[in-house]
Parts: sequence; structure tokens; C-alpha cells
Amino acid sequence: MVVGGGLAGLQSLLALRGRGYAGALTLVAAEAEPPYDRPPLSKALLAGAVEDTTLEADWAALDVTRLHARRATGLPRAGVLATDVGDLGYDGLVLATGASPVRLPGADSAVTLRTRADSLALRARLRPGARLVIAGAGWIGAEVATAAVRAGANVTVVEALAAPLASALPVAIGSRMLPWWGEADVILGAVVDAVEPDAVHLRSGASLPADVVLVAVGARPETAWLAGSDVVRGERGAVAVDGGLQTSAPGVYAVGDCAAWESPRYATRMHVEHWDNALHAPTVAAANLLGGEDRYDPVPYFWSEQWGRMVQYAGHHPAGDRVVWREDAEDRWAAFWLAGDQLVAALTVDRPRDLLQARRLMESSAPIDAALLADPAVAVKATAT
Ligand code: FAD
Repeated sequence: MVVGGGLAGLQSLLALRGRGYAGALTLVAAEAEPPYDRPPLSKALLAGAVEDTTLEADWAALDVTRLHARRATGLPRAGVLATDVGDLGYDGLVLATGASPVRLPGADSAVTLRTRADSLALRARLRPGARLVIAGAGWIGAEVATAAVRAGANVTVVEALAAPLASALPVAIGSRMLPWWGEADVILGAVVDAVEPDAVHLRSGASLPADVVLVAVGARPETAWLAGSDVVRGERGAVAVDGGLQTSAPGVYAVGDCAAWESPRYATRMHVEHWDNALHAPTVAAANLLGGEDRYDPVPYFWSEQWGRMVQYAGHHPAGDRVVWREDAEDRWAAFWLAGDQLVAALTVDRPRDLLQARRLMESSAPIDAALLADPAVAVKATAT
């Protein structure tokens, strides 16, 4: 049985069948529609460039009992999933309930962006001259601001930290991106105090008139429904899984945005909200659910399309102890994090080949020549010593 009908849920079903599991399969999915892709919700769908992001699946061949618009509500005892339509028995279970946007207290009139319906509703309001205030200059804030400016909206972004993306990246990196936001007003170091339907009030006393307010201050694993069960949750509520993606409850696995895995590679528990993780982790969970002993310890990968640029990130930069910059005359640049002579993370702007090669170097743990890494004329793969 699989709970959660997003990318990780669908991939779990595909992987179970792909590994030859021929028994009964049930999907319990809170959303009414079939699994769809989320990255376009703040990009192509929001911009009106695509209408449908449904993920491809041959449901007839998969032979899955799909319970859509149904919620899992708990795990009362081993082998039983409680749902809003009653208890369901399982032999093995994959939790793939994703994450939900963090809301600001007192900001009920503000919108968030997680679902297809959220994206379409926001799109309808991004008219020329519309005043959009975005709380949070993170990844989603940046992508929505890009689409909104292009749609002719007047965009103001309020960020509590000292630079865009500062909750995910060092301030020095976000500060390099700030000029990209030229057509949006970015107010840094500002805290939202209250949100009304037509205004955002800052703690400084300033008020920003608004037709639409988007709160984009991050997401939290959607796991509160597991309270009281044998499934242990860790930091920020993410389900704690071992290196084989099994939870503390035997036969119960967790994948995607809702899970945090033990990583020998980074000697820490990893929790990411990355599409690539939702795509690949289910293969490991499915193999182990069927009796395998696979391990999951990837170099994480993430991308963002903002302000006409492709920003890509791989690795885990807190593991690094210094940053090497590489840039060319056309403002395509990269930051590489090293720990000793090992590459542990890379962020690239419009340098996809560098990112790909850097990720391979991280996977191979090859020692790196930092001076070569700084030279944009040298292929990243040629920096291994
Ligand atoms: P989800 O996609 O959240 O799916 C979980 C599903 O479980 C949901 O349908 C939910 O309704 C359902 N559910 C929750 N609780 C229950 C319950 N109790 N019972 C039943 N069902 C339940 N990543 C990138 O790497 N690059 C990007 O550019 C990028 N852009 C993004 C843009 C947006 C707007 C968003 C929202 C995310 C973006 N991401 C991006 C992140 C990426 O989409 C996620 O990492 C991925 O969707 C996670 O998949 P998931 O299946 O784990 O969770």
C-alpha cells in the first residue's frame, strides 16, 4: 500500500510493479486528481505555457486500487492504516505524503503554492498592474516573482533574512543573485507582522498595499497524521528512515519530501525537498519492501528556473569548509564547496555541464585541484587529481 499520490507515491507504485510485485496494490491519495508534477506549478503552468502536468502512468497495467480524495489519518497498530473511509489492512506500506506550505499566523487571506489548483488560482490573479506581495525570497518566491513580473504585475518581495535564498544558501551567494530581481522590489531584513486582504503590514510599521499576497516561507513534512504511531519523526516532523528507507515501524518505508534518511556520505540525517529525491528514493524503498537490501545515499540534486536563468545545486554544502568561485564574462558562474580536497557541493548558474560533472566527481569522491576548479576554461571533470 502507498499513501500519497505525488511523484514519490507514483514512483513507489511503478517500482513495486517493476520489481515484479504481482499482489494487490492500493494508493490512498488526498488529492482528487491523478499524480502530477509540481515544479511547473511555479514555472510553465503559472506562466500559462502548459496546462497539464499530469505524470504519465499506465494505470490499467499497474493494476492499482486508487482511493483518491481520501486521507490517511493514522497507523493505529501494525498492519492497519486508518483513513477517513475506515481502516485498511496492509502487508507493506510506503509513506509518501510530501510536504505542505508553512503558513504565517494571522495570514488567512494570503495564498500559498503547492497544488495545481493553487497555481491556476494564482495565475488568474497575475494581471498587468496587479499588486503582488510575496512573503519569502526563497526558491518558490523567486520563481513566482519571475512569472508575475513577466505577466505585468507589480511585485514586492518581503524577506526576513539578509539576502534572497538565505535560508538555503550562504548570504554571499544570495547577494550575488539580488541584482536579478531588478524588476521586483525586494525588502530585505523585513518581518511580516500582519496580513490583511488588501495590505501587508511589516514589523517596521510600513504597510504594503496588495491585491494578492503569497506566503512562500517554506514547507513542512506532511506527517502530523502519524502522531501516536510507531513511526518516529525527527526534525521538522520528517519521518526518520534508515539507510534503506525503512521507518522505525517494521515493513513501513518513507520516501520523498516527507522523509529524512541516514546518510553515511554526509554523516548526518538528510532531509531535502527535491524532485530528484522523490523520483529515485522509491526504487530503493520498493526493493527493500520486497526483501532486498538496497542503500540510499545519493548526492542530492535540485534546480530552479528564475529570472531567465537555470540555477542548479548538487551536494550538501554544510559539509564544506571553503568555497571556490568560477565565473565567465557572461555572468555564468558557479560556487563549489570543498572539504579538504573533496568536492561536497556545487551551485551553478547557466553552467549545466559543470553541474553534471561536479555531481559525478562528488559521487566518485575524487580529490580536486581547487585552482583548476576556479578556471572556467577547465572542464570540471578535469579538476580531479
Ligand atoms: P508531494 O508532491 O507533496 O506529494 C504528496 C502527496 O501526498 C500530495 O498529493 C498530498 O496531497 C498527499 N497527502 C498528504 N497527506 C496525505 C494523507 N494523510 N493521506 C493521503 N494523501 C496525503 N524541486 C526541484 O528539484 N526543482 C524545482 O524546480 C522544484 N520546483 C517546485 C515548485 C513548486 C511550486 C513546488 C511545490 C515544489 C517544487 N519542487 C521542486 C519540489 C518537488 O516538487 C517536490 O520535492 C516533490 O513534489 C516531492 O514529491 P512527494 O511525492 O514527496 O510529495
